[in-house]
Amino acid sequence: MVGSGGVGKSALTLQFMYGDFIEEYDPTKADSYRKKVALDTQECFVDILDTAGQEEYAAIRDNYYRSGEGFLCVFSLCETESFEHTQEFRDQICRVLDDETVPFILIGNKADLTSQRKVSSRDAEAKAKQWNCAYLEASAKTRVNVEEAFLTLMRKIRERKEKAQAGAGGETGKKEGGCCRLL
Ligand code: GDP
Ligand code: MG
Repeated sequence: MVGSGGVGKSALTLQFMYGDFIEEYDPTKADSYRKKVALDTQECFVDILDTAGQEEYAAIRDNYYRSGEGFLCVFSLCETESFEHTQEFRDQICRVLDDETVPFILIGNKADLTSQRKVSSRDAEAKAKQWNCAYLEASAKTRVNVEEAFLTLMRKIRERKEKAQAGAGGETGKKEGGCCRLL
């Protein structure tokens, strides 16, 4: 979970983990969670690192990024600055991983606060298109798109792993109907 402070990273994580909206969570705290998830008939575990978004040392932050297989980049639909700030997170992640195709989803959170909205769907969609990633509007409060955000990211991670495995198989020989084809 990456994004500016106060955008709802912890609230989204806790909603996904426990199905509850936690109003107040220590904003300086980075914490990790593990959940068993049924992903399209496949049972798997997801490890979530909820970063504080203000990690004091760049080295610690970069280590967090290196340990990530996918990223939910969160901003608040009610705060333009947090939307602008997503570019910085995106750039840092791509730089540290040296990879622009890492599973990544842009999340506009606090969709329930419609009257306080500052960021349009169009602007956020344009940003996601530029990054070639998905965009979802969510609410940690009403649970809208919370499950979808995590499951969509997990599917992308799984897809990528399967592709990588198929690729590795291709180098040493592909299994076809019980026989091994050496290429
Ligand atoms: P973090 O710093 O990104 O982890 O943000 P938090 O999860 O601590 O949330 C910051 C504040 O926004 C808290 O007061 C939350 O209750 C509130 N908040 C988070 N998500 C939502 C949401 O979807 N809707 C509303 N109305 N408030 C939210
Ligand atoms: Mg937090």
